[in-house]
Amino acid sequence: MPLEDVFGRILGLKEPWFVEDVVFDTGKLEVDIYVGFRAGAQLPCPECGGLCPVHDTVKRTWRHLNFFQYPAYIHAKMPRVVCGKHGTRTVKVPWSRRLPDSASLCKEGQGKHQGRLREGTRP
Ligand SMILES: [Zn+2]
Repeated sequence: MPLEDVFGRILGLKEPWFVEDVVFDTGKLEVDIYVGFRAGAQLPCPECGGLCPVHDTVKRTWRHLNFFQYPAYIHAKMPRVVCGKHGTRTVKVPWSRRLPDSASLCKEGQGKHQGRLREGTRP
């Protein structure tokens, strides 16, 4: 699986969103993840959820959880859509949702990894 697809799955991206590129900046010691959406895609209005054409975009950067010990940043052109009912609105992006608390992540992760470890254990 290409690295971009791995990061797309980690971020929980779904069409039309995808990871365009992942760069490890050896100078800043940070991970930069570039996310985009398919050209011509219609995106949901944040008010009513109706699919709308993209009006324009604005470049933005989000700080994400560390990738191992390295700070990770998501870079994307933030789209604004034109809704027939609500006018021009900035869409909600999948990675800006509230993150689960670390305890939940650890518990969830342990369950998944325990299963894999058992499967991979040699006699
Ligand atoms: Zn709307």
